[in-house]
Amino acid sequence: MEIQYIKQRLTMPIVLHYYGLKTDKQSRLNCPFHEDKTPSFQVYYKTQTAYCFSSNCKTHGKSIDVIDFVMHKENCTKAEAINKCKEILGYQKPDRKERYQPDLSKSQFLANMYKYFKNAVHNSKPAKTYLEQRILALPF
Ligand SMILES: [Zn+2]
Repeated sequence: MEIQYIKQRLTMPIVLHYYGLKTDKQSRLNCPFHEDKTPSFQVYYKTQTAYCFSSNCKTHGKSIDVIDFVMHKENCTKAEAINKCKEILGYQKPDRKERYQPDLSKSQFLANMYKYFKNAVHNSKPAKTYLEQRILALPF
C-alpha cells in the first residue's frame, strides 16, 4: 500500500532532480552507483525504472525503481528508503506550489502590475524619453 502510494507519486525525474542528477537526450547518465566514465545508467521514464549496464555495479544488473534508487543512493535499508521517499515527496510539495501564482486580491494584483510597469519604465530608455517628451514625467 505504502509502496504503491510512493511509486504513483514519486517519479524518476523527481528523484534524479532531488539528487542533482540529470539524464542526457538518450535518458542516460553516468551511473551514480559506481565509477562510471560513460553513461551506462539508463532511465526508463515509461516504467519509472532504471538499469545500469555495467558489470561492476552494485545494482548487479537488476532493474531498479525509485525506492531501490534511493536505497542505493543512501546506502540504507528498504524501510529507510521508503521513509526517505516520503521525505522527498514532502520536499517537492512546496516547490510545486511556488510555480502557481498565489491567490491575489484585485488590488494586490493591480499593485503588482503597477510595480512591474513602474520598474519597466525605469529600465527602458525609449519609455523614459517618450514620457519626458509628453511631459508626463520629469527627467530622472
Ligand atoms: Zn552502475
